[in-house]
Amino acid sequence: MKKQFVVIGLGRFGGTVSKELTRLGYEVMGLDRNMRKVQEYASILPYVYQADTTDENVLKELGVQNMDHAIVSIGDDLQASILTTLILKDLGVPTVTAKATSEYHRRVLERIGADHIVQPERDTGVRVAHQLTNKNLVDYLELSPEFSLVEVLAPKEMHGQTLKQLNIRARYGCNIVAIRREDNRVIVSPLAEEKILLGDILVIIGSNQDINRFEKRFED
Ligand code: ATP
Repeated sequence: MKKQFVVIGLGRFGGTVSKELTRLGYEVMGLDRNMRKVQEYASILPYVYQADTTDENVLKELGVQNMDHAIVSIGDDLQASILTTLILKDLGVPTVTAKATSEYHRRVLERIGADHIVQPERDTGVRVAHQLTNKNLVDYLELSPEFSLVEVLAPKEMHGQTLKQLNIRARYGCNIVAIRREDNRVIVSPLAEEKILLGDILVIIGSNQDINRFEKRFED
C-alpha cells in the first residue's frame, strides 16, 4: 500500500507539500485550524478537515495515528508547532517532518523527537549562496551540519581523465558517488577506470570542509 501522509498547516509550505504529494499519486489528509484554508483545499486534497492539532483527542478521532508520515508546517505559532509534533510522536506516527522557523525552533523540534526538520528559508539561502559562488554547482544538499552532497558540472580540467587519475578522495577527501551523463544516464558507484566526459555532472559526498576545498580549486 502507498504511504499515507497528513499535512498539518496549509500555509504556503504545507500547501505546496500537500499539492505535490497529491500530484505524485499519494493520499494526503490536510488539517488546518483556519476554515478558509480548509475550504481552499477542499477541492484539491481528498481529505481536508478543520482541526486544532494541539488537541490530542481531535487527532485520534481523525485517525492520524494510522498515518505513515506527518508533516508539521505550522510556522508562527511556536507553541502549536511544538505541541503538535510532540503529540504526533506520542501517538506513534513513524515519521514526523517538522518545519522550523528559527535555529531555536529547530533545536526544540530535534529534542522532542521530530525525525526530519526543514527550515525552508535557511536551507534555500544556503543553497543559493553556494550556487552564486560556484558556477559549476547544480545542486547542494546539506546532509548534516558537517556533511553535504553536491552536484557539480565536471570542470573542464577533468575531461578525459579517469577517476583513478583524478584521485579525488586522496586529494580532497571527498567521494564521487555517481556521475550523471548528458543523456541522463546515471552511473552509480563509478569504477576507478571511468572517464569524465564533457557535460558530466558529478555527485560528490564529503565533509563541508573538504567539499569547500574541492569547489575552491575549480573556481574561476
Ligand atoms: P507559510 O510560510 O508556509 O505560508 P507560516 O510559516 O507563515 O506559513 P503559519 O501561517 O503560521 O505558517 O501556519 C501555517 C498554517 O498552519 C496556517 O494556515 C495556520 O492556520 C495553521 N495552523 C496554525 N496553528 C495551527 C493549529 N494549532 N492547528 C492546525 N493548524 C494550525
